Amino acid sequence: MHHLDYRNLGHETYWWDVLVLSPAAHDWLIHGLLSGWKRPRQQKHYPNLPQRLAHNWGRLPCSLKMLLVAAIFVALGASLSSNHVFGGGLGALIFILVLWL
Ligand SMILES: [Zn+2]
Repeated sequence: MHHLDYRNLGHETYWWDVLVLSPAAHDWLIHGLLSGWKRPRQQKHYPNLPQRLAHNWGRLPCSLKMLLVAAIFVALGASLSSNHVFGGGLGALIFILVLWL
């Protein structure tokens, strides 16, 4: 359980004030990589910019996240291939395959 901020302590709203994260995502990513492995109290500013980006990503509804990730795959496919329509389709296909795995 990860607190995005401590303003509503005791009256937290799920997926707004607190996120339910896997221990790996929580310890390694949010309080590790994004903070330089510092606890919130040791940070000069908590949350810092990368953490705020991650927090807002975490607040997005799941369907919107999927849509954004799908859009990134399609855009990546379209820009990497000389035939943009084919590349975009391929990107969409790879996204669907990744979902299945
Ligand atoms: Zn936390």
